[in-house]
Amino acid sequence: MSDLETSIEQLKKEGLFFTDTHAHIHFEPLGSNLDKVIENCKKNCIGRIINIGINLEDSKKALSVAKQYPFIYAAVGVHPHDSENFKIKDLGYFEELIQDEKVLAIGEIGLDYYRNYAPADIQKDVFRIFLDLALSLDKPIVIHNRESSEDIVKILNEMNSNGKLKGIIHCFNGDRTILKWALDNGFLISFAGNVTYKKAVEIRDAAKDVPFDRVLVETDSPYLAPVPKRGKTNEPAYAIYTAKFLADFYGVTLIDLAKITEENISKLFGKLNVL
Ligand SMILES: [Zn+2]
Repeated sequence: MSDLETSIEQLKKEGLFFTDTHAHIHFEPLGSNLDKVIENCKKNCIGRIINIGINLEDSKKALSVAKQYPFIYAAVGVHPHDSENFKIKDLGYFEELIQDEKVLAIGEIGLDYYRNYAPADIQKDVFRIFLDLALSLDKPIVIHNRESSEDIVKILNEMNSNGKLKGIIHCFNGDRTILKWALDNGFLISFAGNVTYKKAVEIRDAAKDVPFDRVLVETDSPYLAPVPKRGKTNEPAYAIYTAKFLADFYGVTLIDLAKITEENISKLFGKLNVL
């Protein structure tokens, strides 16, 4: 048995598991193969999924999948790529979605200056609108950030004057500016498969400064499969590879990391269902 297989057996024995804190399982090819996706989660001790929406229609889809399975939850929001299509009248529909008990967070929201699919000003406006919503509804947020740390931190500081914002930096990219903000403001840092990539020296370097009480794992499936699945369609079950990589990186057991990440999740979201 490989080291990972042994660790998975131990997790099973102790009833421990990981949460994939960021996936898009309603995206194809995962959406048409949900039974298989969930069966694979069971095998790899992935006991919970937070399924993420990227615009209004997509958020409805993300939630409808979450409502079919007790251990799947949803986040609803507008991805910076989709910010140009956001209409202010949609806000009421989002508010309605957020009332659903399966919606844990508002996201993914943020800025993306790498692809720049939408003008920066529009991205910033929409980001602010959703931060406002998160503050007024007291909901955690899931932040997407790509080559936009300075503006993100500027806006977050502007909006977080009372320190009420809480949430997750998704797919942490190793940027020190956002890391410092996140640590100062009680945010969690979620690592995706790219932390396992050979060239991701910057992410691993910054990871050394992330305390355990802030660490989470995610897949961002169907994208960004971790080594040894790199290049394949990603799925929540593969979060175990990122978890194992991080456990080895930090010099802790997979059991310890499972306990730590679960504690971090319950601090942010309270008691949740498990597969
Ligand atoms: Zn995503």
